[in-house]
Amino acid sequence: MTDTMPHDDRPVPDHKPATRVVHGGYDGHRFHGFVNPPVVHASTVLFENAEAHLADRQRYVYGRHATPTIEALSDAVTELEGAAGTKLAPSGLAAVTLALMSVLSPGDHLLMVDTVYGPTRKFCDGMLARLGVTTTYYDPAVGAGIAALIRPETRAIFLEAPGSGTFEMQDVPAITAEAARRGIVTLMDNTWATPLFFQPLAHGVDLSIQAGTKYISGHSDVMIGTVAASERVWPALQDTYRQLGLCVGPDDIYLAYRGLKTMAVRLDRHQANGLEIARWLAARPEVTRVRHPALPDDPGHALWRRDFSGASGLFAIEIAPVADAALIAFLDRLKLFGMGYSWGGYESLIVRARPELGRTAVPWTHSGTLLRLHIGLEDPADLIADLEAGFAAMAVAQG
Ligand SMILES: *Cc1c(COP(=O)(O)O)cnc(C)c1O
Repeated sequence: MTDTMPHDDRPVPDHKPATRVVHGGYDGHRFHGFVNPPVVHASTVLFENAEAHLADRQRYVYGRHATPTIEALSDAVTELEGAAGTKLAPSGLAAVTLALMSVLSPGDHLLMVDTVYGPTRKFCDGMLARLGVTTTYYDPAVGAGIAALIRPETRAIFLEAPGSGTFEMQDVPAITAEAARRGIVTLMDNTWATPLFFQPLAHGVDLSIQAGTKYISGHSDVMIGTVAASERVWPALQDTYRQLGLCVGPDDIYLAYRGLKTMAVRLDRHQANGLEIARWLAARPEVTRVRHPALPDDPGHALWRRDFSGASGLFAIEIAPVADAALIAFLDRLKLFGMGYSWGGYESLIVRARPELGRTAVPWTHSGTLLRLHIGLEDPADLIADLEAGFAAMAVAQG
Protein backbone atom coordinates (compact mmCIF):
# COMPACT_ATOMS: atom_id res chain seq x y z
CA MET A 1 0.00 0.00 0.00
CA THR A 2 2.90 2.36 0.59
CA ASP A 3 3.74 2.09 -3.11
CA THR A 4 0.29 3.07 -4.30
CA MET A 5 -0.21 5.67 -1.55
CA PRO A 6 2.81 7.93 -1.33
CA HIS A 7 2.28 10.67 1.25
CA ASP A 8 1.09 13.82 -0.41
CA ASP A 9 3.82 16.42 0.01
CA ARG A 10 2.62 18.87 -2.61
CA PRO A 11 2.89 22.49 -1.48
CA VAL A 12 -0.47 23.90 -0.40
CA PRO A 13 -1.70 26.24 -3.15
CA ASP A 14 -3.09 29.59 -2.10
CA HIS A 15 -6.74 28.67 -2.50
CA LYS A 16 -9.75 30.23 -0.80
CA PRO A 17 -11.08 28.42 2.32
CA ALA A 18 -14.13 26.93 0.55
CA THR A 19 -11.82 25.38 -2.04
CA ARG A 20 -9.50 24.10 0.65
CA VAL A 21 -12.26 22.26 2.54
CA VAL A 22 -13.23 20.52 -0.70
CA HIS A 23 -9.74 19.62 -1.96
CA GLY A 24 -7.59 19.65 1.17
CA GLY A 25 -6.02 16.71 2.94
CA TYR A 26 -6.24 13.96 0.39
CA ASP A 27 -5.51 13.67 -3.28
CA GLY A 28 -8.23 11.66 -5.01
CA HIS A 29 -5.64 10.16 -7.36
CA ARG A 30 -3.62 8.70 -4.53
CA PHE A 31 -5.33 5.34 -4.23
CA HIS A 32 -6.43 3.98 -7.61
CA GLY A 33 -8.47 7.13 -8.30
CA PHE A 34 -11.05 6.63 -5.57
CA VAL A 35 -12.01 10.19 -4.68
CA ASN A 36 -12.29 9.53 -0.94
CA PRO A 37 -9.59 8.19 1.38
CA PRO A 38 -9.74 4.51 2.36
CA VAL A 39 -11.07 3.70 5.85
CA VAL A 40 -8.13 1.74 7.22
CA HIS A 41 -8.90 -0.44 10.23
CA ALA A 42 -5.50 -1.23 11.67
CA SER A 43 -3.37 -2.11 14.61
CA THR A 44 -0.51 -4.19 13.14
CA VAL A 45 1.33 -2.89 10.12
CA LEU A 46 3.77 -5.38 8.57
CA PHE A 47 7.32 -4.24 7.95
CA GLU A 48 8.43 -4.68 4.37
CA ASN A 49 11.61 -6.49 5.38
CA ALA A 50 14.07 -7.04 8.24
CA GLU A 51 16.04 -3.92 7.44
CA ALA A 52 12.93 -1.75 7.81
CA HIS A 53 12.01 -3.59 11.00
CA LEU A 54 15.43 -3.31 12.66
CA ALA A 55 15.62 0.39 11.84
CA ASP A 56 11.96 0.76 12.88
CA ARG A 57 11.64 2.95 9.85
CA GLN A 58 8.71 2.82 7.50
CA ARG A 59 5.99 5.26 6.46
CA TYR A 60 3.39 3.45 8.61
CA VAL A 61 4.41 1.33 11.60
CA TYR A 62 1.42 1.09 13.93
CA GLY A 63 -2.32 1.82 13.79
CA ARG A 64 -2.22 4.15 16.77
CA HIS A 65 0.40 6.38 15.18
CA ALA A 66 -0.71 7.00 11.62
CA THR A 67 -2.88 5.54 8.89
CA PRO A 68 -3.96 6.97 5.54
CA THR A 69 -7.35 7.72 7.15
CA ILE A 70 -5.82 9.62 10.08
CA GLU A 71 -3.60 11.56 7.67
CA ALA A 72 -6.47 12.50 5.36
CA LEU A 73 -8.33 14.41 8.09
CA SER A 74 -5.24 15.69 9.93
CA ASP A 75 -3.72 17.06 6.72
CA ALA A 76 -7.03 18.67 5.73
CA VAL A 77 -7.27 20.46 9.09
CA THR A 78 -3.59 21.44 8.95
CA GLU A 79 -4.13 23.11 5.57
CA LEU A 80 -7.31 24.83 6.70
CA GLU A 81 -5.73 26.15 9.93
CA GLY A 82 -2.43 27.12 8.31
CA ALA A 83 -0.69 24.96 10.92
CA ALA A 84 2.55 22.99 11.19
CA GLY A 85 0.53 19.88 12.03
CA THR A 86 -2.68 18.53 13.56
CA LYS A 87 -3.53 15.76 16.01
CA LEU A 88 -6.96 14.14 16.27
CA ALA A 89 -8.58 13.39 19.62
CA PRO A 90 -11.57 11.19 20.51
CA SER A 91 -13.74 14.20 21.47
CA GLY A 92 -13.62 17.96 21.56
CA LEU A 93 -12.93 17.86 25.29
CA ALA A 94 -10.08 15.38 24.72
CA ALA A 95 -8.65 17.84 22.18
CA VAL A 96 -8.76 20.59 24.84
CA THR A 97 -7.08 18.41 27.48
CA LEU A 98 -4.46 17.13 25.00
CA ALA A 99 -3.59 20.71 24.07
CA LEU A 100 -3.31 21.79 27.72
CA MET A 101 -1.23 18.73 28.70
CA SER A 102 1.13 19.45 25.81
CA VAL A 103 2.26 22.78 27.24
CA LEU A 104 1.78 22.63 31.04
CA SER A 105 3.94 21.13 33.79
CA PRO A 106 3.76 21.11 37.62
CA GLY A 107 4.36 24.58 39.03
CA ASP A 108 3.07 26.31 35.92
CA HIS A 109 0.34 28.97 35.98
CA LEU A 110 -2.48 29.05 33.43
CA LEU A 111 -4.66 32.04 32.52
CA MET A 112 -8.08 30.73 31.50
CA VAL A 113 -10.96 32.79 30.12
CA ASP A 114 -13.88 32.89 32.58
CA THR A 115 -16.45 32.15 29.85
CA VAL A 116 -14.82 28.88 28.79
CA TYR A 117 -16.73 25.69 27.99
CA GLY A 118 -17.77 24.21 31.37
CA PRO A 119 -15.97 20.84 31.15
CA THR A 120 -12.70 22.63 30.27
CA ARG A 121 -13.08 24.53 33.52
CA LYS A 122 -13.64 21.25 35.41
CA PHE A 123 -10.40 19.87 33.94
CA CYS A 124 -8.47 22.92 35.15
CA ASP A 125 -9.98 22.81 38.63
CA GLY A 126 -9.66 19.01 38.81
CA MET A 127 -6.83 17.24 37.05
CA LEU A 128 -4.62 20.26 36.34
CA ALA A 129 -4.88 21.37 39.96
CA ARG A 130 -4.03 17.82 41.07
CA LEU A 131 -0.95 17.87 38.83
CA GLY A 132 0.25 21.14 40.36
CA VAL A 133 -0.91 23.62 37.73
CA THR A 134 -2.59 26.76 39.07
CA THR A 135 -5.40 28.39 37.07
CA THR A 136 -6.54 32.01 37.22
CA TYR A 137 -9.78 32.87 35.41
CA TYR A 138 -9.85 36.20 33.60
CA ASP A 139 -12.54 38.52 32.27
CA PRO A 140 -13.09 37.86 28.53
CA ALA A 141 -13.03 41.65 28.03
CA VAL A 142 -9.48 41.91 29.48
CA GLY A 143 -7.70 42.58 26.15
CA ALA A 144 -4.15 43.91 26.60
CA GLY A 145 -4.95 44.14 30.33
CA ILE A 146 -3.99 40.45 30.43
CA ALA A 147 -0.44 41.75 31.04
CA ALA A 148 -1.34 42.64 34.62
CA LEU A 149 -2.35 39.02 35.33
CA ILE A 150 0.82 37.43 33.99
CA ARG A 151 3.15 35.99 36.65
CA PRO A 152 6.73 34.79 36.30
CA GLU A 153 5.42 31.19 36.24
CA THR A 154 2.61 31.87 33.73
CA ARG A 155 3.15 29.37 30.94
CA ALA A 156 -0.08 29.51 28.90
CA ILE A 157 -3.13 31.65 28.12
CA PHE A 158 -6.33 29.96 26.95
CA LEU A 159 -8.97 31.80 24.91
CA GLU A 160 -12.43 30.94 23.68
CA ALA A 161 -14.50 33.44 21.69
CA PRO A 162 -17.33 33.97 21.68
CA GLY A 163 -17.77 32.59 25.21
CA SER A 164 -19.66 29.36 25.81
CA GLY A 165 -23.34 30.03 26.47
CA THR A 166 -22.98 33.81 26.77
CA PHE A 167 -21.08 34.78 23.57
CA GLU A 168 -18.70 37.49 24.83
CA MET A 169 -15.99 38.31 22.29
CA GLN A 170 -12.28 38.55 23.08
CA ASP A 171 -9.56 40.79 21.65
CA VAL A 172 -7.46 37.86 20.44
CA PRO A 173 -4.57 39.81 18.84
CA ALA A 174 -4.20 42.06 21.90
CA ILE A 175 -3.84 38.99 24.15
CA THR A 176 -1.56 36.99 21.85
CA ALA A 177 0.70 40.06 21.43
CA GLU A 178 1.21 40.28 25.22
CA ALA A 179 1.85 36.53 25.34
CA ALA A 180 4.34 36.61 22.47
CA ARG A 181 6.31 39.40 24.12
CA ARG A 182 6.95 37.04 27.05
CA GLY A 183 7.24 33.71 25.25
CA ILE A 184 3.93 32.48 26.70
CA VAL A 185 1.99 29.86 24.74
CA THR A 186 -1.59 30.64 23.66
CA LEU A 187 -4.40 28.16 23.06
CA MET A 188 -7.85 28.86 21.64
CA ASP A 189 -11.06 26.86 21.49
CA ASN A 190 -12.36 28.05 18.11
CA THR A 191 -15.29 25.64 17.80
CA TRP A 192 -17.90 28.39 17.30
CA ALA A 193 -16.29 30.10 14.30
CA THR A 194 -14.42 27.11 12.82
CA PRO A 195 -11.26 27.91 10.84
CA LEU A 196 -13.55 29.13 8.04
CA PHE A 197 -14.70 32.20 9.98
CA PHE A 198 -11.67 32.81 12.20
CA GLN A 199 -8.05 31.68 11.87
CA PRO A 200 -6.44 31.48 15.33
CA LEU A 201 -2.91 30.77 14.10
CA ALA A 202 -2.96 33.82 11.82
CA HIS A 203 -3.84 35.85 14.95
CA GLY A 204 -0.89 34.61 16.98
CA VAL A 205 -2.43 31.54 18.67
CA ASP A 206 -0.17 28.47 19.03
CA LEU A 207 -2.75 25.71 19.51
CA SER A 208 -6.12 25.92 17.74
CA ILE A 209 -8.77 23.55 19.05
CA GLN A 210 -11.95 22.34 17.36
CA ALA A 211 -14.68 20.17 18.80
CA GLY A 212 -15.04 18.40 15.44
CA THR A 213 -18.16 16.89 16.94
CA LYS A 214 -19.86 20.16 15.98
CA TYR A 215 -19.50 21.76 12.53
CA ILE A 216 -16.73 19.63 11.01
CA SER A 217 -18.83 16.49 11.38
CA GLY A 218 -22.07 18.43 11.06
CA HIS A 219 -24.50 15.54 11.44
CA SER A 220 -24.71 14.86 15.19
CA ASP A 221 -23.30 11.37 14.76
CA VAL A 222 -19.60 11.63 15.69
CA MET A 223 -17.46 12.58 18.68
CA ILE A 224 -14.05 13.90 17.58
CA GLY A 225 -11.64 16.78 18.23
CA THR A 226 -8.69 18.40 16.48
CA VAL A 227 -5.66 20.33 17.72
CA ALA A 228 -3.68 22.28 15.12
CA ALA A 229 -0.26 23.56 16.18
CA SER A 230 2.15 26.31 15.23
CA GLU A 231 5.74 25.33 14.40
CA ARG A 232 7.02 25.99 17.91
CA VAL A 233 4.56 23.78 19.83
CA TRP A 234 4.07 21.05 17.20
CA PRO A 235 6.86 18.84 18.66
CA ALA A 236 5.30 19.08 22.15
CA LEU A 237 1.84 18.25 20.79
CA GLN A 238 3.12 15.21 18.90
CA ASP A 239 5.04 13.96 21.91
CA THR A 240 2.13 14.37 24.35
CA TYR A 241 -0.30 12.73 21.94
CA ARG A 242 2.03 9.73 21.66
CA GLN A 243 2.50 9.43 25.44
CA LEU A 244 -1.21 9.65 26.20
CA GLY A 245 -1.97 6.87 23.73
CA LEU A 246 -4.80 8.75 22.11
CA CYS A 247 -6.32 7.62 18.86
CA VAL A 248 -9.66 7.86 17.07
CA GLY A 249 -11.51 5.05 15.30
CA PRO A 250 -11.27 5.12 11.50
CA ASP A 251 -15.01 5.21 10.91
CA ASP A 252 -15.39 8.33 13.04
CA ILE A 253 -12.45 9.97 11.31
CA TYR A 254 -14.00 9.15 7.97
CA LEU A 255 -17.36 10.66 8.97
CA ALA A 256 -15.62 13.83 10.12
CA TYR A 257 -13.62 14.00 6.88
CA ARG A 258 -16.85 13.53 4.92
CA GLY A 259 -18.54 16.29 6.93
CA LEU A 260 -15.65 18.68 6.38
CA LYS A 261 -16.20 18.55 2.62
CA THR A 262 -19.57 20.33 2.96
CA MET A 263 -18.73 22.53 5.93
CA ALA A 264 -18.47 25.78 3.94
CA VAL A 265 -21.95 25.53 2.41
CA ARG A 266 -23.50 24.35 5.67
CA LEU A 267 -21.95 27.22 7.62
CA ASP A 268 -23.24 29.80 5.15
CA ARG A 269 -26.75 28.49 5.73
CA HIS A 270 -26.30 28.25 9.52
CA GLN A 271 -25.10 31.86 9.47
CA ALA A 272 -27.99 33.19 7.35
CA ASN A 273 -30.64 31.23 9.25
CA GLY A 274 -29.12 32.15 12.60
CA LEU A 275 -29.10 35.86 11.82
CA GLU A 276 -32.67 35.79 10.53
CA ILE A 277 -33.94 34.08 13.68
CA ALA A 278 -31.80 36.28 15.94
CA ARG A 279 -33.22 39.47 14.37
CA TRP A 280 -36.76 38.13 14.68
CA LEU A 281 -36.17 37.23 18.33
CA ALA A 282 -34.69 40.67 19.06
CA ALA A 283 -38.05 42.22 18.13
CA ARG A 284 -40.09 39.91 20.40
CA PRO A 285 -41.46 41.41 23.62
CA GLU A 286 -40.55 38.25 25.60
CA VAL A 287 -36.86 38.60 24.69
CA THR A 288 -34.87 41.12 26.75
CA ARG A 289 -31.58 40.58 24.93
CA VAL A 290 -30.11 38.58 22.08
CA ARG A 291 -26.49 37.54 22.58
CA HIS A 292 -25.06 37.23 19.07
CA PRO A 293 -21.82 39.02 18.15
CA ALA A 294 -22.88 39.53 14.51
CA LEU A 295 -25.78 41.78 15.59
CA PRO A 296 -24.70 45.46 15.38
CA ASP A 297 -25.81 46.35 18.91
CA ASP A 298 -23.99 43.42 20.54
CA PRO A 299 -21.12 44.60 22.81
CA GLY A 300 -18.72 42.26 20.99
CA HIS A 301 -19.75 43.34 17.51
CA ALA A 302 -16.77 45.59 16.76
CA LEU A 303 -14.28 42.84 17.63
CA TRP A 304 -16.27 40.27 15.67
CA ARG A 305 -16.33 42.55 12.63
CA ARG A 306 -12.65 43.31 12.86
CA ASP A 307 -11.37 39.72 13.19
CA PHE A 308 -14.06 37.24 12.10
CA SER A 309 -15.37 36.69 8.58
CA GLY A 310 -18.66 35.06 9.57
CA ALA A 311 -20.93 33.78 12.33
CA SER A 312 -22.16 30.26 12.91
CA GLY A 313 -25.64 29.24 14.03
CA LEU A 314 -25.21 29.31 17.81
CA PHE A 315 -26.34 32.19 20.03
CA ALA A 316 -28.38 32.89 23.16
CA ILE A 317 -31.39 34.90 24.23
CA GLU A 318 -32.36 36.26 27.61
CA ILE A 319 -36.04 36.23 28.39
CA ALA A 320 -37.74 38.16 31.17
CA PRO A 321 -38.21 36.07 34.33
CA VAL A 322 -41.18 33.70 33.97
CA ALA A 323 -42.61 30.95 36.14
CA ASP A 324 -41.13 27.47 35.53
CA ALA A 325 -44.50 26.32 34.20
CA ALA A 326 -44.40 29.00 31.48
CA LEU A 327 -40.84 28.09 30.48
CA ILE A 328 -41.83 24.43 30.35
CA ALA A 329 -44.88 25.28 28.20
CA PHE A 330 -42.65 27.19 25.78
CA LEU A 331 -40.03 24.45 25.46
CA ASP A 332 -42.50 21.58 25.24
CA ARG A 333 -44.49 23.33 22.52
CA LEU A 334 -41.46 23.49 20.18
CA LYS A 335 -41.60 20.81 17.52
CA LEU A 336 -38.57 21.65 15.35
CA PHE A 337 -36.19 22.66 18.15
CA GLY A 338 -35.00 19.62 20.07
CA MET A 339 -33.72 19.91 23.63
CA GLY A 340 -30.30 18.32 23.77
CA TYR A 341 -26.61 19.00 24.33
CA SER A 342 -24.00 19.58 21.68
CA TRP A 343 -24.70 21.53 18.47
CA GLY A 344 -23.32 22.04 14.98
CA GLY A 345 -25.48 19.37 13.36
CA TYR A 346 -28.06 19.98 10.65
CA GLU A 347 -30.91 20.33 13.16
CA SER A 348 -32.09 23.11 15.45
CA LEU A 349 -31.67 22.80 19.21
CA ILE A 350 -32.52 24.77 22.33
CA VAL A 351 -31.24 24.38 25.89
CA ARG A 352 -31.33 26.43 29.04
CA ALA A 353 -27.85 27.79 29.90
CA ARG A 354 -26.70 28.29 33.51
CA PRO A 355 -23.65 30.61 33.45
CA GLU A 356 -24.16 31.45 37.13
CA LEU A 357 -22.83 27.97 37.95
CA GLY A 358 -19.39 28.51 36.49
CA ARG A 359 -18.22 32.11 36.61
CA THR A 360 -15.70 33.43 39.11
CA ALA A 361 -13.85 36.37 37.48
CA VAL A 362 -17.07 38.09 36.38
CA PRO A 363 -20.02 36.65 38.33
CA TRP A 364 -23.21 36.28 36.30
CA THR A 365 -25.82 38.64 37.73
CA HIS A 366 -28.61 38.68 35.12
CA SER A 367 -31.94 37.62 36.56
CA GLY A 368 -33.87 36.31 33.55
CA THR A 369 -33.64 32.92 31.88
CA LEU A 370 -30.87 32.32 29.38
CA LEU A 371 -31.64 30.02 26.45
CA ARG A 372 -29.01 28.82 23.98
CA LEU A 373 -30.24 28.15 20.46
CA HIS A 374 -28.55 26.30 17.65
CA ILE A 375 -30.14 27.22 14.33
CA GLY A 376 -30.06 24.33 11.90
CA LEU A 377 -30.54 24.01 8.17
CA GLU A 378 -34.36 24.04 8.17
CA ASP A 379 -36.36 26.75 6.38
CA PRO A 380 -36.20 29.74 8.74
CA ALA A 381 -39.90 30.53 8.22
CA ASP A 382 -40.78 27.17 9.80
CA LEU A 383 -38.41 27.80 12.70
CA ILE A 384 -39.99 31.22 13.32
CA ALA A 385 -43.48 29.71 13.25
CA ASP A 386 -42.31 27.08 15.75
CA LEU A 387 -40.93 29.72 18.15
CA GLU A 388 -44.05 31.85 17.71
CA ALA A 389 -46.23 28.91 18.76
CA GLY A 390 -43.93 28.37 21.74
CA PHE A 391 -44.30 31.97 22.89
CA ALA A 392 -48.09 31.69 22.53
CA ALA A 393 -48.08 28.60 24.76
CA MET A 394 -45.89 30.45 27.24
CA ALA A 395 -48.36 33.33 27.39
CA VAL A 396 -51.27 30.93 28.03
CA ALA A 397 -49.34 29.18 30.82
CA GLN A 398 -48.55 32.53 32.41
CA GLY A 399 -52.27 33.35 32.51
C1 LIG B 1 -18.92 20.84 22.61
C2 LIG B 1 -17.75 21.67 22.92
C3 LIG B 1 -16.55 21.08 23.33
C4 LIG B 1 -16.43 19.61 23.62
O1 LIG B 1 -16.67 18.81 22.50
P1 LIG B 1 -17.09 17.27 22.72
O2 LIG B 1 -16.83 16.68 21.39
O3 LIG B 1 -18.52 17.29 23.15
O4 LIG B 1 -16.18 16.72 23.77
C5 LIG B 1 -15.47 21.90 23.55
N1 LIG B 1 -15.55 23.23 23.37
C6 LIG B 1 -16.67 23.82 22.98
C7 LIG B 1 -16.71 25.30 22.80
C8 LIG B 1 -17.81 23.07 22.75
O5 LIG B 1 -18.96 23.68 22.41
